[in-house]
Order: sequence, then structure tokens, then C-alpha cells
Amino acid sequence: MICIPIIADNVDNAIRDMTEASKVADVVELRLDYMKNLNLNRLLENRNKPVIITYRPFREGGKYKGNEEDRVAVLKLAIRLGADFVDIEHDTIQNIGKESAYISRNKTKIIVSYHNFRETPDNLLDVYKKLSLTGTDIVKIVTYANDITDNVKIYRLLQQTSKPLISFCMGEYGLISRILYKEFGSYLTFASLQKGVESAPGQIAISELFSTYRIREQDKQTAIYGLIGNPVSHSIGPVIHNALFKQMGFNNIYVPFKVNNVDNFIKNFKLLDVKGYSVTIPHKESVINSLDEIAPLAGKIGAVNTIVNNNGRFIGYNTDCEAAIKALGSVIEVSGRNNHLKGKKVTLLGAGGAARAIAFGLKEYDANITILNRNIERARLLARDVGCSYGEFDYILKNETDILVNATPVGMYPAVNETPVPAKMLRPNMIVFDTIYNPVETRFLREAKAMGCKTVGGLPMFAYQAAAQFKLWTGQMPPVEKIEKIAYERLVSK
Ligand code: NAP
Repeated sequence: MICIPIIADNVDNAIRDMTEASKVADVVELRLDYMKNLNLNRLLENRNKPVIITYRPFREGGKYKGNEEDRVAVLKLAIRLGADFVDIEHDTIQNIGKESAYISRNKTKIIVSYHNFRETPDNLLDVYKKLSLTGTDIVKIVTYANDITDNVKIYRLLQQTSKPLISFCMGEYGLISRILYKEFGSYLTFASLQKGVESAPGQIAISELFSTYRIREQDKQTAIYGLIGNPVSHSIGPVIHNALFKQMGFNNIYVPFKVNNVDNFIKNFKLLDVKGYSVTIPHKESVINSLDEIAPLAGKIGAVNTIVNNNGRFIGYNTDCEAAIKALGSVIEVSGRNNHLKGKKVTLLGAGGAARAIAFGLKEYDANITILNRNIERARLLARDVGCSYGEFDYILKNETDILVNATPVGMYPAVNETPVPAKMLRPNMIVFDTIYNPVETRFLREAKAMGCKTVGGLPMFAYQAAAQFKLWTGQMPPVEKIEKIAYERLVSK
């Protein structure tokens, strides 16, 4: 079930929002602690979906700072009036006891809740057992995630319990427990009516749950895929892969995993049997140590952007390499006998995961590569591995460059006014390839175009690498143009 909390500041607005929310939600939560001049009768008379009455005190993360007896009296009234659900905090339930006669008469379901806004403690099962002993109909345990692995504690709890349990993590790290609530086994999930009107940290807008995450179509059998990175919140991966899964008829879902420690993450999430991952900044190289097998090309490159879970064995691939060469193919012929990359002077900015993939790809086509990187030692190591030159940044000024490639995040959203190369270093006969796809046209590309250079943005490379990883996961090749179109629409409509 999906529940939308109503956090209006008066009864009229609450009825308006409740009517709106009832069109899409299964349950509506009336947060009385946000409301002035309560009129419980009127609110309940105007419901057209089941409601949860919540009157959250400040100590449990709510807005109510008044007298505790008054608050408890309102909760008791909600039970007497036959609210469908009443949320009662774990430290309040003992004060409601004698209302139980009303509970059985009116069929009000009691939710006994525990919120922890600081952390996700290890003793969740003890908390659950304590709350169950109150004789409640439903238990609610909501905690704050300080790390992505905190979601696994919630998942484990949900696997171990029998009573209906609402449980998920708050905060950015907890997002996946809200999206994957059916796979986790939570009784319901919360979503905000609109972006910007959340009642708790990390709550997702209902429109996004429907459009990107196809929440109604998910079930316990839905296979989980996702993106490992940090940051991940602006990634277009979920929009792309979920649209492809839908279009091509897969019961799969793709979610963003914001990961600090990739090894810890991979180990902990084996419990959820995630079927495949994309890997992005900054984990493409470090993830290798956590995998069971590395495909030869990825091993040679030393960077993995795709992981396939093959019956519990995690295999790493690299689809960036081929994707970058295909993207360059739109401005320079690289196919068959017409390899125009041969002997071309390519200056490659960056020595991270993307740069490694591009450098090895260019090497295959006999380009004459020079690597420039902020950390010169890293440039030296990549140059050694590939068998090419490396240099200081002013190399671009002093030497002729045919193709200039940016494989650093300089100029990427939100720092869109930055550029890795000052315009004065550009020459009209250069080909300029910026691997950044957000924004679609970076300042670097704009200035290169203005100089008369041929340019390639990061979007085609993104589409090729995404298509290749989709094929590794599903065995089916999706249409690359479709990926580019969805990505473009998403990025320019932001
Ligand atoms: P990464 O492994 O973290 O490497 C980042 C690289 O950028 C390193 O060489 C780093 O230099 C350099 N760098 C970072 N911040 C810098 C700064 N402020 N000034 C100068 N250099 C800086 O990341 P990655 O996975 O290779 O990704 C790099 C870029 O490629 C990103 O913009 C990403 O969007 C893009 N990319 C695009 C696609 C696509 O499909 N279009 C695919 C993959 C990557 P140090 O070594 O000195 O730290």
C-alpha cells in the first residue's frame, strides 16, 4: 500500500489535499501535528480512502509541542470516531489502554510506532518484540540511515517478523527501502503528494514512485538492479533502465545506491540478491577487489562499470571503452579499414575510471595518446599501463592536439560554469569530446563549438554504455536512440 501524508496547516487545506491524495494513494495519513484548529469529525467525514491519524509529538520527530494529555485525548477521540488507523507512539500506547473496547467495536487498527532520527540501531528485533507485546495490530519501526547498509538491517528485520510491519529508513541513504518496500516486505510505504512537501527526510514524491519506479507493478518477484556511486541523486540511470525494463517486458527495477564503502556494500547486499549493477564515480576501480571475476577487457583497463550477478558470482565488465569509441565515430571514421584515429594526437584529460577505458580504447585504434591529470602520478601510471605519454597541463598549449577528450567531472552539474580547458587553448581544427552528459552541452563544448571545433557530448557514450550493460544483464539489446532520447528529454527538462 502507498500512503500519502497530509501536512496541511489547517482543516480546509487538509481536506483539499486529502481529496487529491486519495486519487492515487491507498491510504492517507492525517498529520494533526501540522494542523491548527483541529476538527477531527470534519476530517473523518471527508475521507474517501482509509486514513491514518497521527499526532506526532516533537520528541518523536513531529511538530506537536503542547500538553501530552491533550494529545492523548485527541488520539482516543480518533479511535472513538472510528478512524481506520491510529498511530500511537511506543511511549504513549500504555496511556490508551482503556480505549481498547472502542478499538474492537470500531475496527480501528492501531499502529504502534518507533522513530529514530539519529541512526539505525542493531537491536531492531528487540524493539519489534517490545512493540508487539503491546497487542498492536501493526508495528512501525522507522530509523535514520547513515549508510546504505543500514537498509539491510531493516530488510533482515522484515524477513524475521510475522506481524504486519511498516519499516524503512529515512534520509538519502534510506531511499531504496522506500522504493523497494514490496521486495522488503513492508506493510506500506510513504510518498509525498508533491516534491518539496515531505513529512520526513528522504521521502520521495508519489509521481516519481509511479513514473520512474513503477511502484504498482513491483512485487516480491521483481528483480533488483542498481547504480553504485556517490553522488547518485542526479543520475539518469534509473529513468533510463526502468523505462527499458518496462518497454522490453522485464519485471526488474533499477535503483540508486549511494555507497561510501563499496566492499562493505557488495558483501551486505548479497542478501537482497541484486542481479546487476552499474558502477560510477568514484568506485569503478576500487570495486574490482570485491568481485569474483573480471572480464578480460575490464581487467586490462582496470575499471568496471557493469556487474552481472551470475548465480551468486559477481562478474565485472567495462562497457565504457567501446561506447567512447562508438561516440567518437560520429565525428571521425573508426570502422573497418578506415581507421582515422590511427596516429591522431589525442590529449586525454583525467586518469580515473572513464579515462582508463577511453585510453585503452584509443590505443586499440593506434591513436597517439597523451594523458594529463591533476594528480600527475596517476597520469604516469595510466600512461605506463596503456603504453603512451603523459604530461603537464600546459601540454595542450605547447603541442598540437587533434582530439581533446575531457574525462574529468570538471563542468558537470551543478558546477556548470567550470571548464577543464580555457577557451584560448582551443583551435578550430580540433575534435573536442566531453564525456560529461549532464548538462547535455557543457561550457567546454559550447566554447569549442564557438571556436569552430567538431564536438561530441557525453550523451551518445552514455547511451552506448547503458545499452551494452542492459544486454549483459538481460541478453537483449535495447534501442540506443531510445536511450538517448529519454536521457535528453530528462536532462533538458530539469
Ligand atoms: P573518477 O574515476 O573518479 O576519476 C575522476 C578523474 O577526474 C580523475 O582523473 C581526477 O583527477 C579528475 N578530477 C576530478 N576532479 C577534478 C578537478 N576538480 N580538476 C581536475 N581534475 C579532476 O571518475 P570517472 O568515473 O572516471 O568519471 C570521470 C568523468 O567521466 C565524469 O564527468 C563522468 O560523468 C564522465 N563519464 C561519462 C560517461 C558517459 O557515458 N558519458 C561514462 C563514464 C564517465 P585526480 O586523479 O587528480 O583526482
